[in-house]
Amino acid sequence: MRFRAMVLEKFNEPLRMKEFEVGELPEGSVLMRMLASGVCGSDVHIAKGEDPRTPVPIILGHEGVGEVIEVVGERKDLNGEPIKPNDRIIWNRGIVCRKCYWCTVAKQPHLCPNRKVYGINMSCGDYPHLLGCYAEAVVLLPEVEVLKIPKNIDPASVVIASCSGATAMNALDSLSEPLAGKTVVIQGVGPLGIFAAVAAKSMGASIVAVIGGSPERLSVAKDFVDVLINRRELSEEERRKKILQLTHNRGADIVIEAAGDSRALMEGFNLLRRGGTYLITGVAVPQDPIPVSVYENLVLKGITLQGVWVSDTRHLVRAVNVVISHESLFAKLITHRFRLEEVNEALRYVEERKALKAIIHFE
Ligand SMILES: [Zn+2]
Ligand SMILES: [Zn+2]
Repeated sequence: MRFRAMVLEKFNEPLRMKEFEVGELPEGSVLMRMLASGVCGSDVHIAKGEDPRTPVPIILGHEGVGEVIEVVGERKDLNGEPIKPNDRIIWNRGIVCRKCYWCTVAKQPHLCPNRKVYGINMSCGDYPHLLGCYAEAVVLLPEVEVLKIPKNIDPASVVIASCSGATAMNALDSLSEPLAGKTVVIQGVGPLGIFAAVAAKSMGASIVAVIGGSPERLSVAKDFVDVLINRRELSEEERRKKILQLTHNRGADIVIEAAGDSRALMEGFNLLRRGGTYLITGVAVPQDPIPVSVYENLVLKGITLQGVWVSDTRHLVRAVNVVISHESLFAKLITHRFRLEEVNEALRYVEERKALKAIIHFE
């Protein structure tokens, strides 16, 4: 069988359509036709060579939902359900080794140094080639964890669970106390920030405030967020006053960086209360260092600073559940749909922040 895919052959060059032949696959593999693939903000950085993990040539795309064409032998999903042709599935984009210290002793498999990721560090130069989502079909290797999803939900809405959703769930999972009654400030109103806001609210946060710079994106968030702050309308000092007003002058219990910019931390420290927790979820590629006053920002306030790197299987499963229970809301996030051959344009829309969530759809 032959399938087309958009391939990054050289960094900073447009992706090109190529065809790949898929022959025999190892026992336990799943070949699936893509139904929807997500264009992640990280893909823009990866295409420029800013992610140190990425080899070329590569089929980009680490978010997607597919329909099973063929299962080699027998496979079950994470719920123990047999996987059959025509099933709709999502999968954990990362494959970990299950042998290293992090996989076995620390029980933090998302930190596995041997982690392989579809569309990020698995080259299409290696058989079975179809290891990224900007493709008509993807091969899920035997070690990939797969989850069936209901057919009555738009696959495009579920795509967000693959990366942003799972990462947001990992961030919230790392909190040492329940979210009930907490005030959460989210910096950034992209898919990651919005997912974190919906999840925090559904987990009992009493006030969720989102700071963003795009009026269109903020208006999408207005239905489920308690406080919207447009950073183009309010100065940094005004934003801080607003958060203090909401929190009896204490500051937020939790601040989540979902802006993808390390500089957001300089503001975020001033929005946290003493003893608060800072979750850094959006910084996915190396960036310039920022000045941090260790005494004022960290020690004096007793802040917990948590870097959040990717996600684990349980975060994916939880993220899918959040999407299924808020489907109409996540459907609204999809502002642009492109065809596979239009991926370069899709990347440009995401880079210029014209799209909130861009999806590649297939016929
Ligand atoms: Zn490992
Ligand atoms: Zn991503």
